[in-house]
Amino acid sequence: MNEHDSVRIASILEADGMVPTSTAEDADVVVLNTCCIRENADNKFYGHLGALKSVKDSRPGMQIAVAGCLAQKDKEAIAERAPWVDAVWGTHNSTRAAELLRQALSSDVTVCEIVDGPAGASEPPPALPVRRDSPHSAWVTIQVGCDNNCAFCIVPSVRGAESSKAFSSIVQEVRALAASGTVEVTLLGQNVNSYGRDITTSLRSDVAWRERTDLAGPLWAAGERARARPLFADLLRAVASVQGIRRVRYTSPHPKDLRADTIEVMASEKAVCPHLHLPLQSGSDDVLAAMHRGYTAARYLEKLTAARAAVDGLAVTTDIIVGFPGETDRDFDATLEVVAEASYDSAYTFIYSPRPGTESAAWTDRFVPADVVAERFERLRVVVERSALLKHQARVGMIEEVLVEGPSKRRPEMVTGRSAQGKLVHFPADPASIPPGAWADVRVVRAAPHYLEGELVEVTGWPRRKVSIPVVAA
Ligand code: SAH
Ligand code: SF4
Repeated sequence: MNEHDSVRIASILEADGMVPTSTAEDADVVVLNTCCIRENADNKFYGHLGALKSVKDSRPGMQIAVAGCLAQKDKEAIAERAPWVDAVWGTHNSTRAAELLRQALSSDVTVCEIVDGPAGASEPPPALPVRRDSPHSAWVTIQVGCDNNCAFCIVPSVRGAESSKAFSSIVQEVRALAASGTVEVTLLGQNVNSYGRDITTSLRSDVAWRERTDLAGPLWAAGERARARPLFADLLRAVASVQGIRRVRYTSPHPKDLRADTIEVMASEKAVCPHLHLPLQSGSDDVLAAMHRGYTAARYLEKLTAARAAVDGLAVTTDIIVGFPGETDRDFDATLEVVAEASYDSAYTFIYSPRPGTESAAWTDRFVPADVVAERFERLRVVVERSALLKHQARVGMIEEVLVEGPSKRRPEMVTGRSAQGKLVHFPADPASIPPGAWADVRVVRAAPHYLEGELVEVTGWPRRKVSIPVVAA
């Protein structure tokens, strides 16, 4: 989501006449788009800011701006700690990026614009010009903010209340993207399964009803019209039906809200990728309860089993936190057991970090000692890698349909792309002859925990367009 916000900020600045540079040293304007979800990112930010000061000292007139959720959290503190910063804006002020930078040109102090609290946060997501991340793939925000209250999480306080983008504008945005060559979209939200929960009232108006029926047409069965709001499953189906879109992904669904109808759409719509990212966080029911996650390990596994039974070749990935306050050896063992049982294709594992203002940050008497956390983290890594390797080994000999991303970063004689399951696939080929956006059938010959290696069988399709064309969101 943060990366996507960066792309959006860049597109606003480009619309204002700026051009991208490849290094900060060449730039007239540097925007640090920050994330404060974990402490690590927070620490790195102040390091980057210090390094930029010396660049700015040797380059008079250069502007430095700070955006994103750390800006939202630290507000004026950034200006106090780093007075060489020209502008600071929060998560809801990105549309004003160009204007704020202009104001900063004639200001002696840091220009700061932060919309505070839930009032500003519950505004619908602003319509920003969308520059695509690549000519063939794009992220599409369907919802901002979060109404959950996970004890460890800073998102609700920096991103605000949940707010869904209108069904019709999302479908129109995807249509516009498809018309300009995008073949893959990833729908983004903090809890995509609760998409639409907040737009009940507006949907009752006639216009919205008409819009809804026009857009989805026969997808809406007569009986369904009695429903007061669109569900995520409806949106997924509508987006998957947009002509030209061959792959639809989404992240993240919350396990407590994952519904059978979403799985049903995944199973029946060819364009929806067989990949489910379902954050577990912990395998211990006590820890899950303390986190306020709203599910038990057994319920989580039940949903996973149902999803796997319904969706052919489903890849499953997750997020796990190690060392949540009060996590005992037994709790952690429960996590290892669930991880083994879930047999993930991969997992993002995080060391718990107390975030200011969150409920669990106050439970200092229950913090787990760093050496215990480090040891658990390593054990978890081993279990996750073993499971990922097994999953990947099972694909050896199979042919994957790969959407090409470009030359491999580490091995330029290889081309890299992603399979429908979302796995990285490397294969030897001349990158010049298979451009990003091409489709290739690749036979898997080797498996590693984090990627697959294969050999090219054939190129099955070429990019629909080679250049990125800016698209304006509805
Ligand atoms: N909305 C998503 C998660 C978004 S944050 C969901 O509920 O699944 C991405 C991940 O960061 C989380 O799944 C969690 O594993 C991790 N995370 C969030 N806050 C954290 C913290 N304080 N310490 C460690 N990891 C954290
Ligand atoms: Fe944070 Fe929980 Fe909301 Fe995810 S669902 S963003 S972890 S509060």
